[in-house]
Amino acid sequence: MTKSEQLFQEAVTLMPGGVNSPVRAFGSVQETPRFIERADGAYMTDADGNTYIDFVGSWGPMILGHNHPEVLKSVTETAAKGLSFGAATENEVKMARLICSMVPSVEMVRMVNSGTEAVMSAIRAARGFTRRNKIIKFMGCYHGHTDAMLVKAGSGVMTAGIPDSAGVPAGCTQDTLSAEYNNLESVQALFERCPEEIAAVIVEPVGANMGVVPPVEGFLSGLRALCDKYDSLLIFDEVITGFRLSAGGAQEYFGVKPDLTTFGKIIGAGMPVGAYGGRREIMEMVSPVGSVYQAGTLSGNPVAMAAGLSQLSILQNTPDFYKELNAKGDWFFGELDKLLERYAVPHCLNHIGSLGCVFFTGEQVNDYASAKTADTAAYGRYFAYMLNHGVYLAPSQFEAMFLSAAHGRETELAKTLQTVEDYVKENY
Ligand code: PMP
Repeated sequence: MTKSEQLFQEAVTLMPGGVNSPVRAFGSVQETPRFIERADGAYMTDADGNTYIDFVGSWGPMILGHNHPEVLKSVTETAAKGLSFGAATENEVKMARLICSMVPSVEMVRMVNSGTEAVMSAIRAARGFTRRNKIIKFMGCYHGHTDAMLVKAGSGVMTAGIPDSAGVPAGCTQDTLSAEYNNLESVQALFERCPEEIAAVIVEPVGANMGVVPPVEGFLSGLRALCDKYDSLLIFDEVITGFRLSAGGAQEYFGVKPDLTTFGKIIGAGMPVGAYGGRREIMEMVSPVGSVYQAGTLSGNPVAMAAGLSQLSILQNTPDFYKELNAKGDWFFGELDKLLERYAVPHCLNHIGSLGCVFFTGEQVNDYASAKTADTAAYGRYFAYMLNHGVYLAPSQFEAMFLSAAHGRETELAKTLQTVEDYVKENY
């Protein structure tokens, strides 16, 4: 028995499913989760000493690669001065200044500890500001596990195939309306049904929790126009896209300005961090200035701020960082698509910059319903082969592949393409 198998055997007796977050249990791909011991650059090493090229990157934040020396130095130096004070620190001011300078729609920001908290708080601010209750979200988008957002959600909810979560009273979701991603008419219809009740539309500007589903031309700008028409707020959930597609996130990439934005893990460089921010007049609704209560004992934690500041500064100051990363993504996903085409593997490859995914379906995937046509068993077989040949992919069909600055074209990416070719040659 491997060390990972031994650990998992004990873990399932101590933690639900043996894990602290569901998709990590590898249930849908029928493999034993690998217990990770360390990671450097593009690689992770498990408890048995196996090394993998990592395409999960802690679900996005490791955009510079694991264990970046500057980030690590900043974290260790800060940790030596104390782990938490529960009081204001200079790094919080620097972090707020940096986020506001990189993402101009964010005039004020509040740090929290996760993407879930960021979304929960942004929604409360939107409801407080508009004095309305209803929220429109999209099927297949995931916005964390707060009660109101667990309606037709993506990510682990979709992977597990559960329609909605138990333990969520109907009262908590009665104001959550679901629309179809990439379908403005479905949004228009909801606005027409309750024109003066919609506080906000929340959207992943690139769907990344039903696999990767980019917005079709005009979708995001159409949402902006509908929100303006009905005096509702537009919230971009940039937990995945923020500081990944460009220094200013998806809103800069697509040129559409939301009222509020949520950020997650990437701004902590892997430390547990989230943030929400936006127009000054909305953020001034938040306590202690305004009447929307929101708080957090560990929010703006000094070590987390040091990690995030260091990573975001590198992203901001490295010339052509995003141009190069996105070009590498275009090349890699383009090659992967051609390879699958060559071996006649039924697939749809969706990607945008360094974010991408292979759906095992012959259909074009542009929303939740088409994503669901993917053959999850085929993904599971592909995943298992790749894992056992040194390539660590997301353990679900409905998650993204993340490229980092540490993935080299001639090295890690070429080896990955070769491993995919070996697999499809044997199996298709
Ligand atoms: N929003 C989006 C778009 C996400 O992808 C996620 C998680 N991947 C969340 C919110 C929730 O973030 P967290 O898991 O940090 O609570």
